[in-house]
Amino acid sequence: MSSLSRRGAKPGSEAQRRLAYFNERRDEIVSTICELVEIESPSDNKAAVDRLADAVAQKFSQLGGKVRIHQAKDFGNHLQVDFAGNSAAKPVLLLGHYDTVYPLGTLATMPCRAVGDKLTGPGVLDMKSGIALMLHALAALQDWHKEDWHGGWPRPITVLLVSDEEVGSDSSRPITEALAKKAAAVLVLEPSYGLQGAVKTARKGVGEYLVKVTGKASHAGLDFQKGVNAILELARQIEKISSFTDLKKGLTVNVGIVSGGSRTNVVPADAAAQVDVRIARIKDAAGIDKKMRSLRLFNRKCKIEITGGINRPPMERTAGVAALYAQAAAIARDLGWKLGEAAVGGGSDGNFTASMGIPTLDGLGAVGDGAHAPHEHILISELPRRAALIAGLIEAV
Ligand SMILES: [Zn+2]
Repeated sequence: MSSLSRRGAKPGSEAQRRLAYFNERRDEIVSTICELVEIESPSDNKAAVDRLADAVAQKFSQLGGKVRIHQAKDFGNHLQVDFAGNSAAKPVLLLGHYDTVYPLGTLATMPCRAVGDKLTGPGVLDMKSGIALMLHALAALQDWHKEDWHGGWPRPITVLLVSDEEVGSDSSRPITEALAKKAAAVLVLEPSYGLQGAVKTARKGVGEYLVKVTGKASHAGLDFQKGVNAILELARQIEKISSFTDLKKGLTVNVGIVSGGSRTNVVPADAAAQVDVRIARIKDAAGIDKKMRSLRLFNRKCKIEITGGINRPPMERTAGVAALYAQAAAIARDLGWKLGEAAVGGGSDGNFTASMGIPTLDGLGAVGDGAHAPHEHILISELPRRAALIAGLIEAV
């Protein structure tokens, strides 16, 4: 209440009524979030993710959505829900994921619990609160528009929740792209940026490479000269690979994991490096990919094999993205709040939709900190205005 009266919407305005509406329902939103957090859903456990998908599907169908389950064999199923609009407008796509990075059993040490303004739990920020915000924003729209409902939503709405975002979205990407293609705009309910809750208008693209070097094993004492040291070759390659970083272009190359060798007294025959590449501009993708693929041997007695590639294109701040942000900022202003924007290094499924040229706004979900870490939490007091912003955007775009 104090935060609202300090920076709230104009008294008597529609925006203020909406904020009050969500303030009254704040505890309900929190309990929806805990319900979702308490069904653990690690990306690599299909049975667990499917269980959450079913629970979420039921909630969306209670709102009148038409549920469609996209079966996935090696991952959890992906959930699409359509709400028919009473206008011919293109649908708005609400995008998110229900998998988390936390193994089953994490709840035991990290329960969904409110401590002061913080709500903790595995995946509470990334992004089960985002799913709860979708549900409550949609329920509110239904409530607000019931007088002029005429059998349809104020506009067509499609929800897509995928099961494999935390592990690269290979399985869901075609579905995301097919639905985005038909959409007027994509609203991504991933966590917001920073404790001011900025939305994300640019994200770097992400690539992953595996560099494998093969040499020849030998006894380090008896046959030193017969050996070909794969680790030494890889070390030289790592220097080369690291030099591809170009900070001015927002291009970074990080050798994050290395392995190789078996014993100190053996000249190592194998060594490998796993490399993370980030690009800010799609036009840099081909160049860095070519550089990675054309690494040349320092020691020709070795063999080198490079696999991988750029798997998420960058989300660039196009005119469409900027216009969507301007709409969001205007809604936030009415709610009495200055909504910031941020460019971040991490990727999401918004990268796919934005790079197709579909106006995309990311980071619309909860405000908090510690995604993927034991202190992951959201700020409960921020939930009402987030919900009001999302509901407003669904109507406006
Ligand atoms: Zn996420």
